[in-house]
Amino acid sequence: MNNKRTVPFFPYSALFSSQQKELTSLLQEVLGRGAFILQKDLQEFEKNLSEYLRVKHVIGLANATDALTLALRAAGIRPGDEVIISSHTFIATAAAIHFAGGVPVPVECGPDHLIDPQSVEDTITSKTRFLMPTQLNGRTCNMDPLQEIADKHHLTIIEDSAQGLGSRYKGKFAGTFGKAGVLSFYPAKILGCFGDGGALMTDDDEIARRVRLMRDHGRDESGNAVLWGVNSRLDNIQAAVLNYFFRDFEKTVARRREIARIYQDKLGSLSQIVLPPPPEKDEDHFDTFQNFEIEAERRDELRAFLKEKGIGTLIQWGGKAVHQMRGLGFRQELPATDKLFGRLLMLPMNSFLTDEDTLAVCERIQEFYRS
Ligand SMILES: *Cc1c(COP(=O)(O)O)cnc(C)c1O
Repeated sequence: MNNKRTVPFFPYSALFSSQQKELTSLLQEVLGRGAFILQKDLQEFEKNLSEYLRVKHVIGLANATDALTLALRAAGIRPGDEVIISSHTFIATAAAIHFAGGVPVPVECGPDHLIDPQSVEDTITSKTRFLMPTQLNGRTCNMDPLQEIADKHHLTIIEDSAQGLGSRYKGKFAGTFGKAGVLSFYPAKILGCFGDGGALMTDDDEIARRVRLMRDHGRDESGNAVLWGVNSRLDNIQAAVLNYFFRDFEKTVARRREIARIYQDKLGSLSQIVLPPPPEKDEDHFDTFQNFEIEAERRDELRAFLKEKGIGTLIQWGGKAVHQMRGLGFRQELPATDKLFGRLLMLPMNSFLTDEDTLAVCERIQEFYRS
């Protein structure tokens, strides 16, 4: 009976249509108030997030890429400073460093697909000043070894936690370990809005002060520009939508973990694929499954087979690691990451999936490897 079921990778229109009535009246109310820029819905959203994340400051920004650039600038990056990143991240991580004046230096990722501490340590030079781990796929890096390396070499940690909302390591939230962390509210992110959106988190009053100024042209309350700023405010209407979705955030996370459990039960014994760690694997990690990224033998064939059966999958970053973007000048040799990138595939993972959808995906994958 699951034979005919099609499952999109992400049902973009469901973001609105699944709660169309409530969202329409919300939009009408906020737009009717004329509350467009830096209004109370944004303040409320920032407050809600800071309470949840147990972090002193949350600042709504236009997107996570801007948030990374502003974090580096506020933390005092100098021209030519090297910033170590995982090569398994969005090119935005590297671009944010580039436009802040720094030099992005990609390193290997480990078996958990997150930045490999050994590779970080091996790559540090006299110019390295920042470490920017990506909290990938809704999982937080093992922050203890990274913090140890950062302390030893006097590196400032800024987290690309664009995919990390709600994820924890030893009980502490992704995005709250470093000098600053960031979030993305791109529609397909675990908390998504109706367009672009982002935020920066920090416990540091001075970083918060500067980023608040910088997001609004560097202007203080009297309109005097006290530092060089940009226009990177989170739209108030997006903040209102995010406040609405955030009320159900715990449910969203729980649902994603249930889906991960189903994938684990049905696919865990297949020898041709490697799954992410199961939701209850260990006490140090609380994963939120922003993505369900597997490693698969005959990956491209599997993807084509699933597509033919109406099952959407995605290869993250279009299949290219940062250091593989040779046109941007990267020259690193990262053989472990190269090897991994021939095998990565993301299965559908979002709270709109039903159990039947998830089982249908599993059946098609079993079918592929049986044949
Ligand atoms: C989505 C994402 C970004 C960029 O976020 P935007 O809000 O689209 O700028 C950066 N890094 C990672 C790891 C992401 O997944």
